[in-house]
Amino acid sequence: MIDTHAHLDEAAFDVDRDQVIARAQAAGLTAIITIGTTAETSRAAVEIAGRCPGVFAAVGIQPNYVAEAKPGDWETIEQLALSPGIVAIGETGLDRYWNYAGFDQQVEYFDRHLDLAHRRNLPFVVHCREAEADVVARLQLAASRAPLRGVMHSFTGNRSVAEACLELGLYISFAGMATFKKSQTVRETAVAIPADRILIETDAPYLAPTPFRGKRNEPAYVVHTAKCLAELRGEPLEDFLRQTAANARALFGLPVESAMQ
Ligand SMILES: [Zn+2]
Repeated sequence: MIDTHAHLDEAAFDVDRDQVIARAQAAGLTAIITIGTTAETSRAAVEIAGRCPGVFAAVGIQPNYVAEAKPGDWETIEQLALSPGIVAIGETGLDRYWNYAGFDQQVEYFDRHLDLAHRRNLPFVVHCREAEADVVARLQLAASRAPLRGVMHSFTGNRSVAEACLELGLYISFAGMATFKKSQTVRETAVAIPADRILIETDAPYLAPTPFRGKRNEPAYVVHTAKCLAELRGEPLEDFLRQTAANARALFGLPVESAMQ
């Protein structure tokens, strides 16, 4: 079982980060991808990945943080992208829900991340909130130049958005939101994703799945999202976990023998 998207650097884990990682291992996880959202948190992600077996890092500036990026921050991301243990660029993307950064600036950074991922031959991680049409348009433009390799993280779009992303070669990842009662559309979409393109994640410390909704999330809880999705898809949990772990290894190039200490 692999949690493809967590933020292990967050202050919410300062008191017990090592226990959180130990609980993930005890719960049967073989890998966690910890994701940066700024230059500083990307550096922290690389540091954690360097210290903890089975933890891998993604580096990038999340769209809600691009306005506060300082001179040199992008160069830091470019540098960090060369570190060992880096398996992806991101999270990047577009967000029309919050208004922390102008949309043109978000688009400019999104394109930059896609370009960096291409240059480094790494997959990218896309954050998309209320900006599905814009994200698909930017991705289509990028795909006209080179084949894409990436994931739509914590997917909340509908089936036609998912189909557009699948057509572009992307993976679709589901987080705890899929377990919430109101998320009927998300579940309907999840059922329609081909087995070789679906991923699971926590987005910890945010968005804990039922039955931990409202509490701090952690990678060990990814099994609750997996159970929900496996049941919906009519697949035995074991098969679903094996398949999604294989998908994560394929996308992020994780070693087959990956294990947490
Ligand atoms: Zn995230």
